[in-house]
Amino acid sequence: MGVMHCDRDGCENILCDRRSYEFGDICDECFAELSGLGVTTREQVAAFMNTTSRDNTRKAQSQEFLELEFPTYENRRLNSY
Ligand SMILES: [Zn+2]
Repeated sequence: MGVMHCDRDGCENILCDRRSYEFGDICDECFAELSGLGVTTREQVAAFMNTTSRDNTRKAQSQEFLELEFPTYENRRLNSY
C-alpha cells in the first residue's frame, strides 16, 4: 500500500482509504467531517475540498474552546475546578 495524500486543501494526512474519481483521495478525518455536513451535491463537495488551512485554524480554535467548555473528568481533576 502506498502513501495516498489527502487532496483536501490544508490537510496533511497521508493515509486515505477513499478515493473519488473527480475529487481525488480523502482521509477518514475529512470524510467524517464531510459526512457531518450533509452535502448532497458535487458543488458542495468541491467547496469542501477547497477549504483552506485558515478554516482548519478556526476549527482548532473551536476545538480549544469546546475543550475548555466541556473538559473531560480527567482534565477537571488536573485543573482542580
Ligand atoms: Zn484529509
